[in-house]
Order: sequence, then C-alpha cells, then structure tokens
Amino acid sequence: MNIYNTMTREKEELKVKNNKIKLFVCGPTVYDYSHIGHARTYISFDVIVRYLKHEGYSVFYLQNITDIDDKIIKRAKERGEDPLELSHRFEKEYLNDMKRLNVNNVNFYARATEHMDEIINQVQTLIDKGYAYDTESGVYFDVSAYEDFGKLSNRNLDDLQDNARVQTDSNKRDPKDFALWKKQGEEPYWESPWGNGRPGWHIEDTAITEAYFGPQYDVHGGGLDLIFPHHDAEIAQMEAASGKKPLVQYWMHTGFLNVRGEKMSKSLGNFITIKELLEMFSPEVYRFFVLSTHYRSPIDFSEEILKQAENSLNRIQNTGKNVLEKYGEDDLPAEDKVDVLSMVNEFKNEFFDAMNNDFNTPIALSSLFDFTHKLNKSLNDNAISKDSLKIILDTFEEVEDILGFSVVPVNDLSSDLSDELLTLITDVRQELRAKKEWDLADKIRDELASLDINLEDK
Ligand code: AMP
Repeated sequence: MNIYNTMTREKEELKVKNNKIKLFVCGPTVYDYSHIGHARTYISFDVIVRYLKHEGYSVFYLQNITDIDDKIIKRAKERGEDPLELSHRFEKEYLNDMKRLNVNNVNFYARATEHMDEIINQVQTLIDKGYAYDTESGVYFDVSAYEDFGKLSNRNLDDLQDNARVQTDSNKRDPKDFALWKKQGEEPYWESPWGNGRPGWHIEDTAITEAYFGPQYDVHGGGLDLIFPHHDAEIAQMEAASGKKPLVQYWMHTGFLNVRGEKMSKSLGNFITIKELLEMFSPEVYRFFVLSTHYRSPIDFSEEILKQAENSLNRIQNTGKNVLEKYGEDDLPAEDKVDVLSMVNEFKNEFFDAMNNDFNTPIALSSLFDFTHKLNKSLNDNAISKDSLKIILDTFEEVEDILGFSVVPVNDLSSDLSDELLTLITDVRQELRAKKEWDLADKIRDELASLDINLEDK
C-alpha cells in the first residue's frame, strides 16, 4: 500500500512493524460548533483508518481536544461563560456531529486540560536540555537551538514571525520563539514550576502523543494548514526533548474544503456548521461528497455539487436495494446468464488498486458506480443466480465497511417499528429513573439527543 508522505513529498510504501499503526490526528479547538471543513478532514481520516483495518493493520487512533486556548477564553468572555464549560459543551457537540457522520474510529480523545502534568514535564525537559527558557511572561522554545526547524514545511524560520498564533513579546530572545507555557494570572490557570499559567498550543500535542505512544510513532495527520508552524513545532519540540529522530514515519495532510476558492474557516465567517448541513442533506450524502475528491485535493463546496452527490449516491443505493430485493425472489436462474463473477472481480481489483494508491477514493467510487451501473441490466434481465447475488451483497458490505455509508440502504425506520422501538426505549428509561439509575438514564437521553430525538422529563 502506498501513502503520500508530506515529509518526503513522495508516495511511499507503508511499512510498519507487526502491522501495528499508532496514528495521531490533531483534534479541534472547541470554541464553537464544528463546520463542514472540519468534517472533511475527519471523514477522510476515518476512511483511511477503516481501510487500514480492512487490510489487516491494527490501528490505535488518538486525537487530542484543545479544550483550553486563547480563542476559547476570548469567546467565553464575550458570552460571560466559564471557558472550560464552554469548551466542554462544544466538545460534546463535536463528538455528536462525528457520531452522526459515522466517524467512529477514534480510540481515544485526549483533552489538553487532562494532561497538564505531561505538558509541564515536557516543558521542563526542554528547559533542562537547553531548548527553552523561562521569562517573566512565559516559557519559550528557542528556535535557534533547534537547527532543523521547518523541515516538514520547507519554510523559512522568518515566516514564523508572521504567524498569527505567535505573539510579539519583548521577553522573547527572538520574535520567532514560540510559547510553551504562558504565564497567566487569570482563570483558568494551572500551577507550574514557572508560575501559574496555561500551555502553548503546540506542546499539548507532543505531550499527549508522548504519553500514549512514546517519543516516536507511525503516522501523524491533520489539515494542510497545520503543516506550518504547528507540525514543524511539534517535530522540533519532541525531537529536541527526546533526542530521537524522526518523530513520525509518515505525515498525512488533508486538503481544504473551500468556498469560492477560500478556505472555509470560523475566522473568515464563511462556514456552514455540520448541524446546518445535516438539516439539508443526509450524513451519507456528505460522506459521499467528501470521498468523491481525493483527500489531499481541495474541494470547492457548493449546494449544487452536493445535490449531484445525492443523485449519484441514490443511484448506487437503488442498485443495492434492487440486488437485495432480487435476492429474496423465488424465480432466480440456477446459473448465471452473464459473467457476473468477472464483473465483481474487475470491480474489486479497481476498487482496491485505487485504495492502495494513497486512498484514492474518487477512483474507488467511480469503479463502484460503474459496477452498479453494469449490474442494473443483469438485474432487469433476471440473469443472476442466488449464489452470485449473495456474493454481490457481501461485496457491497465489504465496501460499506470501508467507506462508511450504505450501498444497500438500511430500512428507514419511519414505519410503525420506529414508534414501537421508541416507546420501548423510553419505557426502559423510565424504569431506570424509578430505580435512580441516573447515569444510564442520562446516557439514553444523550444518545437519543444525538439522533435529534429530544426527551423532556415532566
Ligand atoms: P481547528 O479546530 O481549526 O484546529 O481545526 C481542526 C482540524 O480541521 C484541523 O486538522 C484543520 O486543519 C481542519 N480544518 C479546518 N478547516 C478546514 C477546512 N476548511 N477544510 C479542511 N480541513 C479543515
């Protein structure tokens, strides 16, 4: 399997020990609802992980949650809300959004605020090794002490100065030095050997990955915007602290979701939240839309293109439905009247070749589209035996596991059954409440809320 490595700018064969992969992807800064640009990145990594697992790799997928940051504090002040309450509220929203989008392969979400000891230890190591210094306003990483800075982005150190997240501060030896620990008197702050304060953004990630993976691991991912300076800073911090190189074997970056050529972002205000989008389109349509473009290429968002994605997905799912219905019929031919197994093999070869080539989902999807298109005629002609229909259904299931949307649509429970199930669930919850099993009762309410079913206890 080949994957593109941002570090070498080349596609490389994936080689890992014992088929085990430690993967870290930068998680969100939770100060607002997540938008569909975030979703693009996390759906892409979800499919990458699904495919790696399908190919027999055992993947541990770790993601951090930046639950304390200047942006969070600023937003909390504007709203008169406690910063950590605000960030944890939006973290919950983010996790609900991911669930709705069927992004469900992260093994562990690590909050920055729950890793303060690890962060403080790493900052201390950097000071002890001469890569960081303490000042009145904070502890800074001395970029001149780490000679390789910028090897991922190939960018010049001077660019660091222009970066929005690097503050000007007369205490710094060099304006390019970035904060590892910001001394802050106002809440929320944490105690440290250098005084009360908060961590810098870059150190959160390396402290978290070191805690779970050690100083070196296999794959690090994120959106394209994080290459510089965030990922370059991570490399500098961790390689300086451990003395071991490289931090990771493979760097993977997703392209942007753009709106009229500009990156969708909270700061530009040109965003659509995941919640808003899911009022117009189903999660499956959005996944299909995202996967119709290669994960490294930009996507230009428009409702028009989403509608096209919806049509294409409908066509594929219609075939899926027809195969399932046909499979239930009695008057099927005992033998195939067309060489349907060659069709299946041809499809699978194309699909897996595409996925093995740096997770080329648009080619994989177009081979699925062609395959279903060819099947339609054979289905109409009643030319496929029951055994072969079963093989097709199994193939669809295999593909569904990788792509995370259904080819054979599951029955929508808009029928009586959904009402009956809902009554059953609410009855069970009432019994739990009567027995004062609040945790379980709350869990049911929260899970239903993530499906947009809101229960009110009266
Ligand atoms: P943030 O919360 O801004 O740190 O973003 C969380 C993740 O979403 C990062 O990996 C970003 O690179 C990614 N991301 C943010 N905006 C976009 C976008 N418009 N398109 C694709 N990925 C994005």
